[in-house]
Amino acid sequence: MPTEIAENLHRILERMAAAAARAGRKPDEITLIGVSKTYPANAIEQAFQAGIRHFGENRVQEWEGKRGVIADLPATWHLIGHLQSNKAGKAARLFHSVDSVDDLALAHRLDRARAEMNVSDQLRILVEVHMGEETKSGVAEAELPRLAAQLLELPHLRFAGLMVIPPYFDDPEDVRPYFAKLRELRDELQTKTGHRLPVLSMGMSHDFEAAIAEGATEVRVGTALFGSRTVLP
Ligand SMILES: *Cc1c(COP(=O)(O)O)cnc(C)c1O
Repeated sequence: MPTEIAENLHRILERMAAAAARAGRKPDEITLIGVSKTYPANAIEQAFQAGIRHFGENRVQEWEGKRGVIADLPATWHLIGHLQSNKAGKAARLFHSVDSVDDLALAHRLDRARAEMNVSDQLRILVEVHMGEETKSGVAEAELPRLAAQLLELPHLRFAGLMVIPPYFDDPEDVRPYFAKLRELRDELQTKTGHRLPVLSMGMSHDFEAAIAEGATEVRVGTALFGSRTVLP
């Protein structure tokens, strides 16, 4: 008997593949991140059994509290929520990637914490770009080139691309310009810095198909995979 999570996963992967095909892209260019915030460790384990290998959590403390035995699963753990700088050290140890970097001082802290760990692999980071009025998080467009140049100097971080949480629209087609904008910003940054920035983390349960149409390489899907959240994130 496949679990409900496995069935949900199956449907999501089909929709991702169809969206990729419509955009003339290959399905394996797009990574599904299961957003497990508010869900218990056993839901994460089920999703892992079903085949998911990337998970996103939005709070350091919540993840620290529930990771227990599942921390040893060979999965990639992403921090996708706003990170306070006093938790940077913990985040650098508990996650493989911080997808929501929005500040140079924070990046410095992550870099130092990673250095102290004496591990050879860099911490992957994405920069969250601010778009729309509703959300406060993220870096303003105008600050991106300067921040990008500075991030590329930090030896223990690997700046890999951009992330966005656009405003909500009932019709996912309406959010496409925001996704297109993130891609354009990424393209400009690549030109300016001369570095490849392959990752575009964009699209959630409600709009991941639109994001794939605009070039998403990572989609962050919570409720469509795990069911609706009973606790507010
Ligand atoms: C919660 C969350 C998601 C997933 O949202 P769903 O609508 O449940 O798919 C994606 N990205 C971020 C940053 C989130 O906080």
